[in-house]
Amino acid sequence: MEGGPRNDRDAWWMPFTANRAFKRAPRLIAEADGLYYRDNSGRRILDGIAGLWCCNAGHNRAPIVAAIRAQAGRLDYAPPFQFGHEPAFALAARLAALAPAGLDHVFFCNSGSEAVDTALKIALAYRHARGEAGRTRLIGRERGYHGVGFGGISVGGLPNNRKVFGHGLSGIDHLPHTYDRAQQAFSIGEPEWGTHLADDLERIVALHDASTIAAVIVEPMAGSTGVLPPPKGYLKRLREICDRHGLLLIFDEVITGFGRLGTAFAAERYGVTPDMICFAKGVTSGAVPLGGVIVAEHIHAALMRGPERAIELFHGYTYSGHPLACAAGLAALDLYRDEGLFERAKRLEPVFAEAVMTLRAAPHVLDIRTCGLAAGIDLAPHADGPGARGFAVMERAFHDHDLVVRISGDTLALSPPLIVGADDVAMLVERLGAAIRAAA
Ligand code: PMP
Repeated sequence: MEGGPRNDRDAWWMPFTANRAFKRAPRLIAEADGLYYRDNSGRRILDGIAGLWCCNAGHNRAPIVAAIRAQAGRLDYAPPFQFGHEPAFALAARLAALAPAGLDHVFFCNSGSEAVDTALKIALAYRHARGEAGRTRLIGRERGYHGVGFGGISVGGLPNNRKVFGHGLSGIDHLPHTYDRAQQAFSIGEPEWGTHLADDLERIVALHDASTIAAVIVEPMAGSTGVLPPPKGYLKRLREICDRHGLLLIFDEVITGFGRLGTAFAAERYGVTPDMICFAKGVTSGAVPLGGVIVAEHIHAALMRGPERAIELFHGYTYSGHPLACAAGLAALDLYRDEGLFERAKRLEPVFAEAVMTLRAAPHVLDIRTCGLAAGIDLAPHADGPGARGFAVMERAFHDHDLVVRISGDTLALSPPLIVGADDVAMLVERLGAAIRAAA
């Protein structure tokens, strides 16, 4: 085929992947069920990261599959602009009920990245509607991950995700991240040290004046950048400072939502109510792409004040509230409730923490953090460069120990589906320990 790809692996440019290395000897995932994948030769692989922090109810759960099938046979698609359908209204109401009191309105999109950009745009539109058009600054945090849109990489704090993509949005500041190995090493749950880091927000407000700032966005627990639980009281203090200066507080709960920390949202675990919650991933247990923003009543009300026939927000996606995604979301929420998966995660949290902490004896382990059913394991950098050791362990785990884990540089991340039991956790830790030792 002239001009076509050289072989059938060349055409797909895989995201966040070392494409050339991967395509040299790919082992492909063919099927999934519960806690396991099956590869194209039939071998079972334990999923230590719930897909990509998303398959919280496990893979290919029958009620979700059935709901998607039924919806596809009834209504494949309907436009969300000035038309509607029952599944989107039903799911929005369920999500509002699950969220903290006062967060009552849901704007749907298709991913975490879109959820973040949507929340930032709502924050700016809200300022405009209130006659505060000067409040345009946005504040993120170092080591924050908010997806890959230009808004998300601008408020995000990962150099690799920003540095070749120009300037991003202007008027962005970053809080310091909350991790200090010397103070927090091997902490289980929220570290004691670091609450004061929230006070940096006062410094930023003093520098620019509150009248220029729209909103602050943080992940309650930074997930994909290494599992960094918030120091005790940190989020409360952020909330207090935001209230003092009239700043909106946005929680990016794309990872922490839907039970990862033992509650529906991290907002509940920490007793802190933000003005908006970004969600995605676990809302459908990963089965169909869906994301969104749960918005506080006062923000929604401010944007609903114009003429009744005027569009209130010039924003939206062709697939906002897609019927298949909403059907999958309703089925996933039913499963979480019926199987008590959030409470199950809370019960298992100490067992998980204890098991993962046994890896502190493994070679090159510098630190381990656990929170809910998530863990970050830092490895010492290898002479071949940052990330080389983490990459080697991930490859070993997958190819030799039938285990999927994630890496962020030299940090290994675990976030198993919430249906794991103590035995599964023991197996997960044993396989990961073997991979770390083998790679050493
Ligand atoms: N925010 C957070 C906190 C995330 O962890 C992620 C994805 N890992 C995103 C946003 C982006 O989500 P997506 O990949 O669905 O765009």
